[in-house]
Amino acid sequence: MVSAQAMDGEPVSDEELRPKVLDGFIGQPRLKAQLQLFLDAARKRDVPPDHILMAGPPGLGKTTLAMIVANELGVAIRVTSGPAIQHAGDLASILSSLDTGEVLFIDEIHRLPRAAEELLYIAMEDFRVDVMVGKGPGASSIPLTLPRFTVIGATTREGMLPSPLRARFGFTAHLDFYPHEELEKLIERSATVLGVSLGPGAAHQLSLRSRGTPRIANRLLRRVRDWAIVHDLEVVDTAAVKDALALYQIDSEGLDRLDLAVLQAIVGSFDGGPVGLNNLSAMVGEEAETVETVCEPYLVREGFMVRTPKGRVATAKAWEHLGLNPKDDVNKLF
Ligand code: ATP
Repeated sequence: MVSAQAMDGEPVSDEELRPKVLDGFIGQPRLKAQLQLFLDAARKRDVPPDHILMAGPPGLGKTTLAMIVANELGVAIRVTSGPAIQHAGDLASILSSLDTGEVLFIDEIHRLPRAAEELLYIAMEDFRVDVMVGKGPGASSIPLTLPRFTVIGATTREGMLPSPLRARFGFTAHLDFYPHEELEKLIERSATVLGVSLGPGAAHQLSLRSRGTPRIANRLLRRVRDWAIVHDLEVVDTAAVKDALALYQIDSEGLDRLDLAVLQAIVGSFDGGPVGLNNLSAMVGEEAETVETVCEPYLVREGFMVRTPKGRVATAKAWEHLGLNPKDDVNKLF
């Protein structure tokens, strides 16, 4: 049944859907065990843990895990991101206001400006920043000692991080797409928080269409909740899930409008490929970074596309999914 809270239209925010402790974080068992050990050791030694890098495609729980780490350590978390820091001075002022043990979360850390990156190496290694005083030839730098703190960096493009910065992280958490069974559990948990009653098989249907990604699972669940409210459904059954998601152009494999546009472009305009990223993104009218970090990891993982040295190539599975016959020579390209 859809709860009164949902009926009133009062949104349940993303924050409320975030698990607050490591035990509540669904899936990624190996990563959770590694992180648990890492945090237990820091607690026993009574020092802030080493810096942590979270790497993986968007929406898999990097921000959620960073918040869990701070919560489990009982410390405050400051949140910023690579693009929000335009000058090294912006980062210096954040660093110099940190208290002992605090967590500094830097989302999209691969997009920090160069000068800020260099300042961050020193701060992470020596717990020091050099503050510039004055301007022009008379300017001088005063070293400022920082309390011990923990940086948690999140990146969708680990390969873009310069190696000196990568080397400053004591632990790298690799997040991977979630199997359907884990997403099913996550959807059931979110449905309880949102007050949505799911019928047998509904969570499974949703999990199949969520691209292995918790953020997408939660988003689709909200759209299905809208459908249930509008159609006065007490319980969301599998038919309701299918109808609601068909309306939002999410297909049976979880591919959305952009994924399908990418596959259609490779197949329809480039004869199955190979095609370079820039040509492809121009074709679908999206930024190259979005195509590369949002679409491609899932399309490659699910076997719809391969990346070859010459460019992106649609697989036989992609042709079939689009209802077309794979070209006879499609496999000769690999
Ligand atoms: P981005 O890189 O785009 O910032 P992210 O990897 O940081 O994404 P989050 O914002 O942490 O992703 O997660 C997206 C949503 O999915 C959150 O609302 C969170 O509640 C939920 N979520 C993610 N992972 C889990 C999990 N393992 N268990 C339960 N909920 C999760």
